[in-house]
Amino acid sequence: MASPLIEVRSLKMYFPVGLSLFGRRKLLKAVDDVSFDLYPGETFGLVGESGCGKTTVGRTLVRLYRPTGGQILYQGTDIANLDEKAVLPYRRKMQMIFQDPYASLNPRMTVSSIIGEPMRLQGMPQAEITARVAELVEQVGLKKDHLNRYPHEFSGGQRQRIGIARSLAMRPEFIVCDEPISALDVSIQAQVINMLEELQDSLGITYLFVSHDLSMVRHISHRVGVMYLGHMVELASAEELYSNMQHPYTQALMSAVPIADPDLAQQANRIVLQGDVPQPIDPPPGCPFASRCRYCKPVCTEVNPEMREVAPGHFLACHL
Ligand code: SF4
Repeated sequence: MASPLIEVRSLKMYFPVGLSLFGRRKLLKAVDDVSFDLYPGETFGLVGESGCGKTTVGRTLVRLYRPTGGQILYQGTDIANLDEKAVLPYRRKMQMIFQDPYASLNPRMTVSSIIGEPMRLQGMPQAEITARVAELVEQVGLKKDHLNRYPHEFSGGQRQRIGIARSLAMRPEFIVCDEPISALDVSIQAQVINMLEELQDSLGITYLFVSHDLSMVRHISHRVGVMYLGHMVELASAEELYSNMQHPYTQALMSAVPIADPDLAQQANRIVLQGDVPQPIDPPPGCPFASRCRYCKPVCTEVNPEMREVAPGHFLACHL
């Protein structure tokens, strides 16, 4: 296997959320001690319930946030603690595609200005920007006569294409796709996914694909990580994870995926989680899933299980 493009080591992202009764600073531990690697040209899917920290991982990797702790090694250089000026060359190599294609586009700018903006900010000559914008609209399946129009004149799928063209402007090596299709009609979702796959094939881009849509993640990802309450609890190739899931949380998550065939759906064994979800503010010690796990043992409420390799390339954080 090639060397990783990005190595994430014990990443922590805590947000201050006021003071406790005793004047202690309260911290929301959105991401707590997460480690994984991203290899060139792969798609790494990150799944979990809303609020599990997957979006925060994506935003922290592209340095929209400065992490509280840990390392983000980009081709060996730790960018986690670089100041704003020093991190700029890395920001150009890392881009983000957002969930809401409308909110992420300036309604007062034309498509041409939106796609060209990152290049203008870099001081690129106008002739080069014009040529590159023309190339990008073609790459994402838009037409040249769309260039002078405004975002409100487009459908959701077309707006997402505009956002993707903008993210490609600086020829990134890595893109965080944060729920890129969840705001789109089902009929359009497949088109956007196919386009992302084609772009990866032709440009060799590495994706972190953040989504709660487990079927789509299975389709697009080479490897998948499962997050719960700010922790990575299981990580494996998509094929291995979906056929041999080991963590009780992964099993519950997968059992909730809708099955199209009514006969198979009837036979499927849906695991309904009981118990309360702990607060990510000052969470209790031990396994983060302990309060909802049907296999919980005394050790689980005391010791947080370390990630260990249970099969080649398959990592699990569970005392079982
Ligand atoms: Fe359940 Fe214990 Fe495994 Fe956590 S460590 S998932 S509580 S069995």
